Amino acid sequence: MNPKPPHRMTRQRQVILEELTKLTCHPTAEDLHRIVRERLPRISIATVYRNLELLSEQGQVWKMSVGGAQRRFDGNTVNHYHIRCSVCGRVDDVHMEVMASLEETAKHSSGYQVMSHTVEFTGICPDCAGKS
Ligand SMILES: [Zn+2]
Ligand SMILES: [Zn+2]
Repeated sequence: MNPKPPHRMTRQRQVILEELTKLTCHPTAEDLHRIVRERLPRISIATVYRNLELLSEQGQVWKMSVGGAQRRFDGNTVNHYHIRCSVCGRVDDVHMEVMASLEETAKHSSGYQVMSHTVEFTGICPDCAGKS
């Protein structure tokens, strides 16, 4: 019995999930790859992508549909709102109440069964605003 290959997969996924959960910066797969490599020096970017896809299918991470070139991931799967800097592309959480009433309104006006909603604000972050 050789438990190595399946265990290694699980371990990689675990480390990816652990590191993502620690971060509040909504990293891209590339960002996360850089961080995870400190613990798993041989992990490839393809492995990080594959595991992130898997984790998001399982609902353990949130694959964000933010504007901008790169897909970002969030270890916090409880619904919350985001704000994206239109200058540097940074994404932060917005600490405000999630408006469940939006889903009722959307349901009534669309006839859909509404499962969820996401909100992304756009703005200029304090760092970028300070530079101008
Ligand atoms: Zn910025
Ligand atoms: Zn977030």
